Order: sequence, then C-alpha cells, then structure tokens
Amino acid sequence: MTKVPYKIYLTEDEMPKAWLDLRGFMQEKPEPFLNPATLQPVTLPELEHVFCTELAKQELNTTEKYIPIPEDIQSFYKMYRPSPLVRAYNLEQKLGTPAKIYYKFEGNNTSGSHKLNSAAAQAYYAKQQGLTSLTTETGAGQWGTALAMACAFFGLDLTVYMVKISSEQKPYRKEVMSTYGAKVIPSPSDTTEVGRRILAENPGTSGSLGCAISEAMEVSMKDENCRYVLGSVLNHVLLHQSVIGLETKTACDKYDVKPDVIIGCAGGGSNLGGLIAPFMAERLEGKNGIEFIAVEPASCPSLTRGKYAYDFGDTGKTTPLMKMYTLGNGFIPSSNHAGGLRYHGMSAIISKLYSQGYINARSVIQSKVFDAATMFARCEGTLPAPESSHAISVAVDEALKCKETGEEKTILFGLTGTGYFDMSAYMAYNNNTMTDYVPTDEDLQKGFDTLPKI
Ligand SMILES: *Cc1c(COP(=O)(O)O)cnc(C)c1O
Repeated sequence: MTKVPYKIYLTEDEMPKAWLDLRGFMQEKPEPFLNPATLQPVTLPELEHVFCTELAKQELNTTEKYIPIPEDIQSFYKMYRPSPLVRAYNLEQKLGTPAKIYYKFEGNNTSGSHKLNSAAAQAYYAKQQGLTSLTTETGAGQWGTALAMACAFFGLDLTVYMVKISSEQKPYRKEVMSTYGAKVIPSPSDTTEVGRRILAENPGTSGSLGCAISEAMEVSMKDENCRYVLGSVLNHVLLHQSVIGLETKTACDKYDVKPDVIIGCAGGGSNLGGLIAPFMAERLEGKNGIEFIAVEPASCPSLTRGKYAYDFGDTGKTTPLMKMYTLGNGFIPSSNHAGGLRYHGMSAIISKLYSQGYINARSVIQSKVFDAATMFARCEGTLPAPESSHAISVAVDEALKCKETGEEKTILFGLTGTGYFDMSAYMAYNNNTMTDYVPTDEDLQKGFDTLPKI
C-alpha cells in the first residue's frame, strides 16, 4: 500500500453535503431540556424566543440522522475547508512509538479554531430568517472571532460579551473582532440588569462564561430582530461540528486508516462531538470498537468529577435546564487557569454517551498540558491552542503506552486550533510561573450547592 502522506486533503467534491446528528443513532436519547418554571420539556415556541427558528428546530430534533448542509454554508466552508488530516510522523519519531498518530487540524482560519463551522451555519440561518443582529458570549475569544467573521460575511450586527479576564489578557482578540465589525463588551458589565446584579454581589469578579451568557441572552430578549447564539454545548452546535468528523472519516477511508483511539479536548463538547460523530455512529451500530476519550482541565473537571444532573447553562439561571455533567452553574474556575475549557457543564449528547460508558474521560493539569503543547510545537511546527493541547497530552500518553507494550495502535486526535492569542499563558509556562491548581472536594461542593433542587 502507498505510504500515507503527511497531509490527507479532500477534494471539494468529497466534502460533506449533510451533517450527522448523533441523536439519530442513539437508542436512548439525551434527556429533554426543561422549562425551569414548569419543569416540562421546552417547546419550539419557547425556544424560538431565544434562538433562530431553524436552529431551535435542529436543537429539538432527536430522530434525524442526517441534515442537508445548505448550499450557501457549503460555499462558506469552501473558503477554509476541507481541513487537513495530518499524520504526525515527526511526533511519532520524537516519541519513538510504534503507534500511528493522526490529527485533524481546525486552526487554518482567522478565528484560529473549529468554531467557524457552527458560526457560519448560525449566521446563515439568522439571515435567512430576516433577523438583523445577534448577541453572544466569548471566553477565550475564538467563538467571538468566528461569529464576527460569519456576521460580517452574511451582513448581521453582532454584540459580543467577552469574559472580563480574557478581554484583559487578550486585547488583540478584541481588535480582530472589531475589525470584522463586532461590538465587544467585557463581562460582567453595567449594560445589562444581570451584569449589574453580578457586579454588585461580586465587585472584583473576573467574569465567567456563565455570566457572559446571561448578559448576551438578556440583550437578545429585548429586541425581536435579535437572537442569541452559542458556540458550544448545544445539540445544534455538535450537529454543525460533525463536518470535522465526516471529513476525517472520508480521509481515513481513502487510506484505509482505522483509528483505535479517538481523543478530543472537551470544554462544552462541540469539537469532540463533531470529531467522533461518524465513528460513534458506527460504534452505536456495533460496527467498531473504538475507544473515545474526552480530555478536560483538572481545574474544571465537569466529566471526571461533576454530577450528572439538571442544571442551568448560565450563572444568571435564565436558560432551560439541561441534564448534563456539571460542576454547578455557580462554579468559577480558579483564576490561575489559563487553558480555556472553563465551562461548568457539558453537552447533553456527550454527557449521555459518557454516562452509558461509550466515552471515557481524563483530566490533565495545565503544566502537563503545556509540556505537551511545547513538544508538539517543536516537532510538528504548529503552535497549538492550550485547549487543543489537552488532547495532545493524552495522545502522547497513549503513544508512550504503546511504546511500552509494543502495540501499533492508531491514535487520532482533534487539533482544534492555534495558540497565537494565548501568549500570556505560554509566557507563564516559559517563565516557570505557571501554577497548577486542582479544586478540593470542598471547592467543588460550593459549585454543587448552586445546582437547582429538582
Ligand atoms: C472553544 C474551543 C474549544 C472547546 O470547545 P468545545 O465545544 O468543547 O469544542 C477547544 N479548542 C478550541 C481551540 C476552542 O476554541
């Protein structure tokens, strides 16, 4: 057989024409979202107040296996996709492992991450519906940037609530968003009721994703031509991200590559859910025995130490209740945490599959994440995002295990983005000032105490 090239690219014709929804393949579906006032499953009319109608429909549709990708979104994807599936020959050599390592690289666009895959879809559907503006939150900044790019393309106004600590650490991120025409507000802010309340209760707060979500939602609720959009966690976001896995599967099939292990970092679960989509669909049909591993920071361990419970998606307790692995909506990761993946909860789909044992989870401390990031940058060339480096770290662990056992496993991981805007974190690592903090059970209990009692 021909040697697998360093990069496997697809032709435009080989790009996916439909997204894959894992719920269509799951015998037991994730629990429905509940209206917190009635504790009844949320309905389309309720969800339409918050999200674009088509996205609300996608969110509630649990039976369809494939959803056609509209032509305009396929065209948008062609600006920066297909993304390469890379054989990490240099990393394999560096580690001296018999394992074969592959990664799907999603960082080749200005937003620097996979987030553009869903941003493009969400902006498109908003435009189709005749809306004029969108609001959202951003933590590390990749989502805000991706959405700013998509809104500029489709001609929509955008307001981004950016977690305050991130906006201070990453001033250039804000400028990229402004360049694409977005209005960026550090959160918590005095522009919303919930922001003013959070500031009054906790004046020195560095902000959190949950809090920025509350602010963005409040603004969208007050304008009927505006909707709120979210870049992770939700079912429709995982749906759009399936483009990652579908391309990966086609590329693997071209060279008869059969992954034994698939690894993804997990913040809200969207890249992981997207990367594993077609492979997990086959696994659910009993067609493979792939091991799927979610990797999260030890400082924000929603899968490995969280509770599987109904919780709000935001600190302001305004979203529907979602059954997910969660640290509690009041959980705020320690301020020394640098590596993204700060969200308190996890996608309902990923949570369900994890609860059923289809997905394993591991947590990694941040200094170990940056050890892996640095090694990867030096031998594979790309400067990885700290988020992505969680996956690299476990891929390296797996490859080293193969070195001990002599197994020639095929390891595939998602390299979700680049780390050019994370230089303050790299600086801390390079200066040896990076610290590790793993929350105690008492710390986590404070978050669990904020879970709704239902
Ligand atoms: C947002 C982000 C993540 C985490 O989000 P998921 O929804 O868990 O995929 C991971 N990597 C990068 C580069 C990101 O921007």
